[in-house]
Amino acid sequence: MRLKILNLNTEIILNACESFYDLLSKISSPENESYVGVKYNGEIQYWYDEIPGDGEVRFIKDSDEEGFEILRHSASHVMAGAIQNLYPGVKFAIGPAIAEGFYYDLDLTEKISENDFIKIEEEMQNIINKDHAIKRELWDKPRAIKYFSERGEKYKLELIDGIADENVSIFSDGIFLDLCRGPHLPSTGKVKAFKLLSVAGAYWRGSEKNPMLTRVYGTAFPSKDELNNYIQRLAEAEKRDHRRLGKDLELFDIFEQAGGGLVFWLPHGALIRKIIEDFWREKHLENGYEIVYTPHIAKSDLWKTSGHLDFYRENMYCLLYTSPSPRDRTRSRMPSSA
Ligand SMILES: [Zn+2]
Repeated sequence: MRLKILNLNTEIILNACESFYDLLSKISSPENESYVGVKYNGEIQYWYDEIPGDGEVRFIKDSDEEGFEILRHSASHVMAGAIQNLYPGVKFAIGPAIAEGFYYDLDLTEKISENDFIKIEEEMQNIINKDHAIKRELWDKPRAIKYFSERGEKYKLELIDGIADENVSIFSDGIFLDLCRGPHLPSTGKVKAFKLLSVAGAYWRGSEKNPMLTRVYGTAFPSKDELNNYIQRLAEAEKRDHRRLGKDLELFDIFEQAGGGLVFWLPHGALIRKIIEDFWREKHLENGYEIVYTPHIAKSDLWKTSGHLDFYRENMYCLLYTSPSPRDRTRSRMPSSA
């Protein structure tokens, strides 16, 4: 078959039955190492699937947005494999790529803290060094249900329950087997630079009615330099974190008794605020603006129109009141018996 490689603007002739991974191993380009995914006629493919026939191929690079996602999601599988080796009995929920990294939600009896990261990272590095191929299989649902039931993987069973297709997609790197659509890197060795970042609690499916799981966050980059730059940036951002500066410089504080996110301005912060507000007013008036004041609260109808109520209801403070019933109104007019 004849394949046009769009990245290299060249054509390659392959035998039938060869896979996208075979194709990758046949082309010599300095960029080979950076190819983490593959598209065929515009559609993302699985590395070890046979190429259907003539067509156009584009390799996804680790620096492309889609490439970052493939890299980071694959790193979450590697982390899951390491945690499975170190914490037998752990149950797995979901492990997606996110904006700047990845996480995996875990159900385990032991507590994982940041002190455990070194040993988990070492185990991840072992899995990466062995360069296991990450291969996909399609299982019929009964087979998948049997497999995950035997391991008590109740979250995976719930996920399978929500899949309409008769077959489910399974990925395995020989260490960790997961219910997953992919795509992934062709092998674990392609995770070049990674770091675990933090651990937090997260409810299964985001509902407080469900069990609290352990969420381990990490990130992965195409190179150690990029990872180090990112970690440096995180450290700099932490130094400038407004929550930290607010406390250290006695600018403001938040008291749980009053409510999360409700700010009390302390004298230093209040003075800065006044100076900024004075400047802001002065500049607006100088430039011909007029000043108005609006209420801080409004009827729910307004927030419905603006869309806030539908999307941010959980983060809004709502005044709860009910219209007085006719009986209450009568009562309020009656003289007090006290
Ligand atoms: Zn996956």
